Amino acid sequence: MANDTNKFQAIIGHCKEYGFIFPSSEIYDGLSAVYDYGQWGAELKKNIKDYWWKSMTQLHENIVGIDAAIFMHPTTWKASGHVDNFNDPMIDNKDSKKRYRVDHLIEAKADELLKAEKQEAAAALLATMDKLLASDDFSGLKLLIEESKISCAVSGTCNWTDIRQFNLMFATEFGSTVSSDGEDNKVYLRPETAQGIFVNFLNVQKTGRMKIPFGIAQIGKAFRNEIVARQFIFRMREFEQMEMQFFIRPGTQKQWYERWKEERLKWHLALGIPASNYRYHDHVKLAHYADAACDIEYDFPFGFKELEGIHSRTDFDLKSHQEFSKKKQQYFDNDIDPATGKPYGNYIPYVIETSIGLDRMFLAVMSHSYVEEDLSTPEKPDSRVVLKFPVKLAPIKLAVLPLLKKDGLPEIARQLMDACKSSFKCFYEEKDAIGKRYRRMDALGTPFCVTIDHQTKEDNTVTIRYRDTMQQERIPISEIQTLVEKHLN
Ligand code: ATP
Repeated sequence: MANDTNKFQAIIGHCKEYGFIFPSSEIYDGLSAVYDYGQWGAELKKNIKDYWWKSMTQLHENIVGIDAAIFMHPTTWKASGHVDNFNDPMIDNKDSKKRYRVDHLIEAKADELLKAEKQEAAAALLATMDKLLASDDFSGLKLLIEESKISCAVSGTCNWTDIRQFNLMFATEFGSTVSSDGEDNKVYLRPETAQGIFVNFLNVQKTGRMKIPFGIAQIGKAFRNEIVARQFIFRMREFEQMEMQFFIRPGTQKQWYERWKEERLKWHLALGIPASNYRYHDHVKLAHYADAACDIEYDFPFGFKELEGIHSRTDFDLKSHQEFSKKKQQYFDNDIDPATGKPYGNYIPYVIETSIGLDRMFLAVMSHSYVEEDLSTPEKPDSRVVLKFPVKLAPIKLAVLPLLKKDGLPEIARQLMDACKSSFKCFYEEKDAIGKRYRRMDALGTPFCVTIDHQTKEDNTVTIRYRDTMQQERIPISEIQTLVEKHLN
């Protein structure tokens, strides 16, 4: 098996070669950290979305979904704190003119120390960095970079500028006329989907007659002008989030936070991906809006990194929107408080947020599923690349393959296609030798292949071939649809 750096490169190559992900506008040499999903990538992505949406809005009776606009009133982002706080400390190398995120630069040095088996030095470096970041001590951070002899990967020098803050929001202009200062018409591309939920909290609560506790879920695009955008779809400038804000009674946040932490991990594990690929990472430095926060990290080919965040956001957002909009964001709770014997009354709800990057989830699923198998026998070297997707997520569920393009076999295959295609995604192929077709379906992660041959005409049986074991068995053609459906549920 390839080592992990090679595995990551192999996954990127595979995604391109088999129509999962292409660099954006590739004929113009691409656009940094922006990607397009191809025919099979789009299917996989949609299946991940459906799995999330269904688990949120169908399996929870008290969660509903919305679809808010990407553009929002600019004051939204003042209220949310993004205009003032959505910054990353950056440093430039004066020789190469390359810009780096300070924490990434120091983390890369810590990785280097770890590789050289200097565990203590690495831990000390990260601990100092955390302390300096927590106190926004930029001169201290610069000194740390210089004293640790951290150099630029391009120029190789330690000739650094001072550290500056850089806002990650993309701005654009609204309407056709631009005011002289450009400010009036300035709108942002949302850097998170959460605010579309907060500003609609009362709309949904009232029209849906929702009672606390309840949640609002949303899937949508978000945009961040990431400075150091690498690692394929792990860090993109345009990406998609699946977020759910759960509105609760103040004082109950600890218990709901723990509950959602657990629920969300269960959601991941229900896909059959091993638990050892996941871990929690509790935040030490909390964002300005949170009273508790953790990440669910996934063991990507480049190590454990954030896949999903669970945040106890207090009443920060609703309170702030109330202040900026001058519109009350309160809920009247007529349940009886056992302490007073009276209704809880009016309050601004607290919020637990679960926020997962759809593209990162795609990469996690791909990393888990991508397997290079050595199938060599003493007589013959052989290997295959197979994507062992959870059946629910596989872009194609069933491949229908007539052994030959004649003798009435394609007609039988077409009948099977017609019977199944309204229930799940099927793929018909009659070109090439059957072994070659199986391998192509392995590379696309198709869990079931069915071959129609001359015996089918005699006894209505077909060969079904299972992707993961490569085993084949003969079963009646009439059982195929039920077999696939059983695996989907
Ligand atoms: P990171 O520390 O990796 O930059 P974050 O803590 O800023 O991430 P959040 O603001 O909590 O991320 O966003 C919620 C989720 O959105 C993340 O867990 C991640 O899955 C996803 N996400 C955030 N930024 C990006 C990005 N640039 N590209 C792809 N997914 C992203």
